[in-house]
Amino acid sequence: MYAGHIVESGRVKEVFRQPRHPYTRGLLESAPDFDRPERELVPIPGFPPNVADRPEGCPFAPRCGYVRDHCTQSMPPLAEVAPGRLAACFESHRLTEVLA
Ligand code: SF4
Repeated sequence: MYAGHIVESGRVKEVFRQPRHPYTRGLLESAPDFDRPERELVPIPGFPPNVADRPEGCPFAPRCGYVRDHCTQSMPPLAEVAPGRLAACFESHRLTEVLA
């Protein structure tokens, strides 16, 4: 969840292996991996929005490395991005990397 919205859903192993929302990916990259303690942690830039004063469009846009102009114009719906996988991101097709 981000800013009060479900942004990704799926089987735990699949979400951890290949996150399809930039916020999920950011969370995984900022968390320690005890199987790979040498991995550098990458913090998510910025801060969560004030839920009483949310920006128009995708609430993650000010912090997102995948943001495009259309992201700030309307809210991305939670939609199926693969069998059994849901993500609320216009650009989820660009998140194809499998995390080791
Ligand atoms: S919809 Fe756009 S701003 Fe929101 S998470 Fe996806 S790429 Fe980032």
